[in-house]
Amino acid sequence: MAEYPQARKRYGQHFLTDPRILARIADALQLTGSETVVEIGPGRGALTEYLLRKAKRVVAIEIDRDLVPKLRDRFADAPLEIVEGDVLETSLAAAAGTDDFVLAGNVPYYITTPILFHALQRPRAAHAVYLVQREVAERVIAAAGSEEYGALSVNVQALARAEIVFRVPAGAFTPAPKVESAVLRVTPLEHPVIEPDEELHFRNLVQSAFGFRRKQMRRVVRTIASATVERAESLLAAAAIEPEARPETLTVAQFAALSRAIRLTPNQPGT
Ligand code: SAM
Repeated sequence: MAEYPQARKRYGQHFLTDPRILARIADALQLTGSETVVEIGPGRGALTEYLLRKAKRVVAIEIDRDLVPKLRDRFADAPLEIVEGDVLETSLAAAAGTDDFVLAGNVPYYITTPILFHALQRPRAAHAVYLVQREVAERVIAAAGSEEYGALSVNVQALARAEIVFRVPAGAFTPAPKVESAVLRVTPLEHPVIEPDEELHFRNLVQSAFGFRRKQMRRVVRTIASATVERAESLLAAAAIEPEARPETLTVAQFAALSRAIRLTPNQPGT
């Protein structure tokens, strides 16, 4: 067995060791054998091995240069390509070499939310399975009005169905992280709530609105759309949102309607 360097905290390294959990993560991807899987952070290759059993090929993106030669040795005869680098600076489709790919990863927890946002960029995976902190998984699936509901919930749910497949105790990792984890499956909606050309505006609006999560929408829209009271109220009326509502209570469809109203009625000087 190859000698591995010690787990590196700065790269969020917690290696999965429980074979039943590894098999269940790979199963959650529902692979048929014809897929290209992009894996985020293969580490020592624990999950990679299970993915390789079920996929046509795996492209793994790893930032830790010291792990890369070990991975190459371990999987010398397997259809594995390794991309050395930072996943946040790597186009997933370009790494896959195709727009038709699925995504998997026991992701580094210090950048879970940026990774989930990164994976929403087009061209995006046909579906994805992530092992993340349980608290982040709960934020992704949270309903409007709940404590956990935020920009991450709205942005993912506008494009995809998200579900927690199962929970993973800290003891399944070496070294054990401080928090519990959960396997999250994200499956794009056939009819997303927003169109491709609306995504950027929608994402920026939602991020900005949750910067004021407890303020009333009349005030929020005035600020983020640089609008007068009258214009803010007319935009909210067009989106069927009460001026007294707060961002944390708006549904994904209401955010989409508001984004559309702002885009389609540009600000006029003095309005
Ligand atoms: N998949 C392995 C497992 O299940 O045992 C390792 C999981 S460990 C939680 C996260 C992995 O992501 C580590 O191998 C780490 O080096 C890698 N990583 C950390 N930051 C990264 C980044 N920005 N881009 C790519 N890989 C990264």
